[in-house]
Amino acid sequence: MNKEKAHEKLKDFLKKNKHRVTSERFEVLDFALDYKGHFGADDLYIEMKNKKSNISRATVYSTLELLVQCNLLAKRNFGDGKTRYESSFNRKNHDHLICINCGEIKEFTSPKIQEIVEEICETLGYEEAGYSFNVFGKCKDPDNCKHYKHNKAKNK
Ligand SMILES: [Zn+2]
Ligand SMILES: [Zn+2]
Repeated sequence: MNKEKAHEKLKDFLKKNKHRVTSERFEVLDFALDYKGHFGADDLYIEMKNKKSNISRATVYSTLELLVQCNLLAKRNFGDGKTRYESSFNRKNHDHLICINCGEIKEFTSPKIQEIVEEICETLGYEEAGYSFNVFGKCKDPDNCKHYKHNKAKNK
């Protein structure tokens, strides 16, 4: 992935908002862009520590918030009280289906949802600044669901 544009964007954002431009912030950005899927702040912190980073937990937390503010990351809440992040750099907006049996998260896009959001904003006289749409489902056969077994093993 070409991260140069993402670095530019963060640098401009930090300067414009009078935040300090530190190498740690770009380190967090790189790890966040490389992370596959959705992650909590601690997931990223542990990943960075495993790769021998000297980063502090507080810096990871504060930088993630800045990355959301400058639209490089999207913040997600899947109904379990845990805040998760994912890269929105060079990615199309998408929505999520969360399986309440096994915790599997599936991504999907539906142009209809986007149309409805635009319609609502227009009717109420607002400019759209994002939306969040989660579908909660149950996999039909948990005993034979590979995610069910996988996530069960992981949480032990
Ligand atoms: Zn996603
Ligand atoms: Zn399942």
